[in-house]
Amino acid sequence: MRLTFIGSGSAFSTVPGNFQSNMLFEAPDPETGETRRLLFDCGSDARWGLRALGLGHGDVDAVYVSHLHADHVGGLEWLGLKNYFIGQGRRVRLIVPEPLRRPLWDNCLKAGMELLDFGLADLDQVFEVEEVATDESFTWMGARFSLVPLVHLRGGAYLMWSYGVFLENDAGGVLLTSDCRFERDRLDPWYARAELIFQDCETLAEPSGAHAHFLELSTLDPALKSRMWLYHVNCTHRPDAVAAGFRGIVEPGQSFDLGAVK
Ligand SMILES: [Zn+2]
Repeated sequence: MRLTFIGSGSAFSTVPGNFQSNMLFEAPDPETGETRRLLFDCGSDARWGLRALGLGHGDVDAVYVSHLHADHVGGLEWLGLKNYFIGQGRRVRLIVPEPLRRPLWDNCLKAGMELLDFGLADLDQVFEVEEVATDESFTWMGARFSLVPLVHLRGGAYLMWSYGVFLENDAGGVLLTSDCRFERDRLDPWYARAELIFQDCETLAEPSGAHAHFLELSTLDPALKSRMWLYHVNCTHRPDAVAAGFRGIVEPGQSFDLGAVK
C-alpha cells in the first residue's frame, strides 16, 4: 500500500503548488489488480490536489472523513455532485466516524447538495455511506484501519474530536494522526505502537492551540522523533525539522511505501 500526500499545508496555506493536507491511500484490488484509491479527507483544495497528480473525480473509490473543518470536507460537494451528474450517478464509498454522520450532512453538505433532479436527497443518495464506531475499524482493500480519536479543539466545556487512523504492517504500525492537539495521554499509546508516524504539526510563530505545535513536538524523545514525519505546516514559518531530529516535513506529492498492510 502507498500513502501519497496530495498536499501537506495547513487550512490557511496559499503556497503555489501546495494544497491543504489530504492524502491518498493506494492499493491493488485483490480481485482485478487495478489500483484503488482511498482519499483521506476531501477538503476545499482536493480537486486541485488530485488534478496535480493527474487524477479526477472518477479515480477516487472511497473517502474517509476525519473531522468537519472545510479543509477536510469542503470538497465533498464537488466529488459527490460531479459523480452524480457527470459520473452516471456513481456513488463513492464514504467512510464516516459515527458522531460525524449527521452533522456532516446537516451542517456541512445539505444546503448545497439536498436538491437534486428527482427532489430532496439525503447523504445516502450521493454517497455509499458507511458509519464506523469511534473505537472500531474499517476495512479497505483487505487492510484494517483502526480509528484513533484525538482532541482537535477545546473551547470552554466543548471539544472537537478528529479521528486519525492506525494501520498494522510488516514493520509494526503506521499512525496518521489527522488534526490534533499535543495531548500526550491520548497520543502516547499510539506513538508506542507505531514505527512510522505522520503527525499534524503547526509551525506558526505562536501556538494556536488547535494543532500540535513544532515547539511541543520538538520536546519528544529523539527515538520517537526519528520515526515521525510532519505535515499540515503553515506557509509562513518552515523550521528545519531534520535538524530538530524528525524525519522531515512532508512535501506536496510525496509518497510513502507502507509495505503490506494487514
Ligand atoms: Zn481541522
